[in-house]
Amino acid sequence: MFAEPKGFCFGVRRAISSLEEALDSYGRVFALGSPIHNPQEIERLKSLGLVIIDGPEELPTGEVVFIRAHGVPERVLESLRKTGAVIIDGTCPFVSKAQEKALTLAREGYLVMILGDKDHPEVQAISQSIKGPVIVVSPSEPFRFHEEKFDKVGIVAQTTQQKGTLSKLVSSVSEKAAELRVFNTICGATSARQGAIARLAGAVDGIIVIGGRNSANTAKLAEISINTGTPTLWIEDQEELERGWFQGKKTIGIAAGASTPDWLIRTIERRLASAKSAGEDGWEND
Ligand code: SF4
Repeated sequence: MFAEPKGFCFGVRRAISSLEEALDSYGRVFALGSPIHNPQEIERLKSLGLVIIDGPEELPTGEVVFIRAHGVPERVLESLRKTGAVIIDGTCPFVSKAQEKALTLAREGYLVMILGDKDHPEVQAISQSIKGPVIVVSPSEPFRFHEEKFDKVGIVAQTTQQKGTLSKLVSSVSEKAAELRVFNTICGATSARQGAIARLAGAVDGIIVIGGRNSANTAKLAEISINTGTPTLWIEDQEELERGWFQGKKTIGIAAGASTPDWLIRTIERRLASAKSAGEDGWEND
């Protein structure tokens, strides 16, 4: 049984397909930062000509550069344009919308508050694009503000935040702000995957979560599954399937993070199906 939705979200699928098209056309494409948190997919893309660099200063003149779904600050885009690079912009439209809303707030004189992780590239792209006062509010810390009163506050959220956390921030700031404007820039892809694994966990004997160890959204799926008490196995690829783990389990659920490619999910599904039909040790036949 699969958790649905699973795997690539709309924005990642769109970005990776534009990267693949660029690799097909140009043969070599430089990416600013890792385009996806999945080691197996990165290896595949590298074999097609992807080169990962840390910043625009590492980009050779006149090359093709890919911007990942998280987007980049406006100044980075400007410096890329100056180098004459061919820019393949994979920024997710929902991320662009969050950036635009934050810029609108800043232009209209609001102190911009971004609910999100200050180290996340998406949040950095928003905060570093704003010319004016900006505060990044972490969802994991209590919302305490030193200021007695705020004049005009505008709130946006990192697209992967929870609606409930945004509501709590809004309620907390509303007690201090003379004027408050809120743009709900949360995208439903993350919560949809989290809801799906929580529902699936109640219906199966064990859950396999597929995704990169460096993928925060996959880690969250594994955490949700573990917290339900359902035996959970987090794997990156089929080599990590543990035969003994299947002992005593009749129904297995499969979930995958938003950065896990379809081809990897299908490979693991095929491996499970062949182990089951061959009656391999450790797999409980119905
Ligand atoms: S999680 Fe949402 S905002 Fe982020 S890349 Fe995917 S679709 Fe876009």
